[in-house]
Amino acid sequence: MAIRKIREMGEECLRKTCKVVPEVNLRTKILIKDMFDTMYHANGVGLAAPQVGVLKRIVVIDCGDAPYVLINPEIIERSGEQTGYEGCLSIPGKSGKVTRPQYVKVRAMNQNGEWYELEGEDLLARAICHECDHLDGILYADLATEGLVNNEELYAEEE
Ligand code: ZN
Repeated sequence: MAIRKIREMGEECLRKTCKVVPEVNLRTKILIKDMFDTMYHANGVGLAAPQVGVLKRIVVIDCGDAPYVLINPEIIERSGEQTGYEGCLSIPGKSGKVTRPQYVKVRAMNQNGEWYELEGEDLLARAICHECDHLDGILYADLATEGLVNNEELYAEEE
């Protein structure tokens, strides 16, 4: 188990366009394993490679149903709309309201280098969009029209 350091907003690696992964090799597999370890350790539901300082188009997601690996992901279908609070391991302690599609279909390679398609609704759709944005240097904070709030205030508000 290897936990990598999660980079935070303000660090340049989070603002770069990541490179396409030409092949899945042992190094890629180790990175993916470390990304899952890092994500679970931080209680996240998704993590993109630039968040651990690696500028490659790799995402891991686990919203509670199953772990997904998305290499070179491309969102090929979007429909509907959902607006809700979103957080990011690179912006600790904060949340912001972001509008995302209710449904997406993404095409990507899995950890064996095979192309597949994944459909997601609700939280999974949100996570796919959020993580894919990371690969182009976009943070949810850029899309949060009402700005960011501290989680403590948010949870106090809901009570
Ligand atoms: Zn994020």
